[in-house]
Amino acid sequence: MEHAVYLCAWSRSRDGYSLWVPSRPKLRANGSTHAEAEERLIRAIQDAGGATHAVLEFDPPLPKSILEAKYAKPEIYLICGDDRFETNVAKGSPFESAAELEERLKGIDAFFQSPICRKCKYSSSPRSDEPLSLSYAPARYDGAFGHVGKLGMTTLQLFSGEFLDLLTPQERQYLKLRPVIRKRPARKFYELLGPAGPPLVAVAGLKISGWRCSKCGHRIWGYWVEGLSIRTFIAASDLPPFLRGIFTVGIPPEIHLAVTSERWKALVGQKGTRGFTSNLLGVVPEHEVVRVPELPTYEESLRGAGCLKRSV
Ligand SMILES: [Zn+2]
Repeated sequence: MEHAVYLCAWSRSRDGYSLWVPSRPKLRANGSTHAEAEERLIRAIQDAGGATHAVLEFDPPLPKSILEAKYAKPEIYLICGDDRFETNVAKGSPFESAAELEERLKGIDAFFQSPICRKCKYSSSPRSDEPLSLSYAPARYDGAFGHVGKLGMTTLQLFSGEFLDLLTPQERQYLKLRPVIRKRPARKFYELLGPAGPPLVAVAGLKISGWRCSKCGHRIWGYWVEGLSIRTFIAASDLPPFLRGIFTVGIPPEIHLAVTSERWKALVGQKGTRGFTSNLLGVVPEHEVVRVPELPTYEESLRGAGCLKRSV
C-alpha cells in the first residue's frame, strides 16, 4: 500500500506530543513538537508494513499556530477524499498528431459549457449536462478528486452515497449533485456540481504562490508559509450571517466542500468519511482581502522560485 489516510489521536504533555492510530494502538510516536512526532509516526506506520506515504488526519484537529488561529474565525475545514478518480475520456498516445490532440481536447470540451483553454487546459465555465463516466473510483474511500481525462486541469470532486447518507435532508438538498456513471457500480458516487459559494481570495501581506494563464487569464494560487497549514482563503464578508454546518466554497466548475468544526466533529471517523482529509480554510478580515491577486504568468513563475509546478 503506497498511500493511505490514517485517523489519528494525540495528547500533549510537558515533554511534548504523543500521536497514535486508535484503530492500531501500537502505531504510536512521540516528539517535542507535533511536526517531529508526525514525522516519527509516518515512519512507524511504514516500518509496520503500512502505507509508504501515510497521510495523518487528526481528531480532534492539532493545535493551531497564532497565525492559523487568526484566520480560523470561524473554524472551517475543506474536506475531500484523498484518492483520485479516473474518467473514460480517451487517453491519447505519446506520438499523437496536432489534429489527434485537438480531437482529444474536444472530448474534454463536451464536459463544460464552453471550450477549455487550449493553453492552460482549465475550464472557465460550469459543467455541461454530460455526466462523468469513470474507469476508476475508490474501492474503500468515500470521496475522490480528479480531472476530465489526462489533459483536463479543472479539479472535480466526488462523494459516496454513504457520505451523503450521513447528511441531514436539508444539507443534502442544498448540495447540487449528479450521479457518476460506472460499468459495474459496487458503490454509488456523486459529483459535487454546486451551488457556487464564497470565492477563493488572496491575503494582503502573505507570500502568495501561483500564476496566471497569459491566454485566458485563469489564476491559480495558494500559500506555503511556515507556521501556516492554510492553503486557501475566503473573505469573512462573503460568509452568510447564519452558517450551515456544510456548505460549498468556490465558483463552478471548481467547487469545494466546506464544513464547520462542530459539524466535522460529528462526521469524522464515521463510515461515510473513510479516507477523508480536512484542511483548515482561512477566513480573511475585509481589510486584508485581495480579490484578484497580481500573479506572474506561468512562464514568468518558472523563472521565479517556489511556484506551483505544472506543465502547460
Ligand atoms: Zn488558460
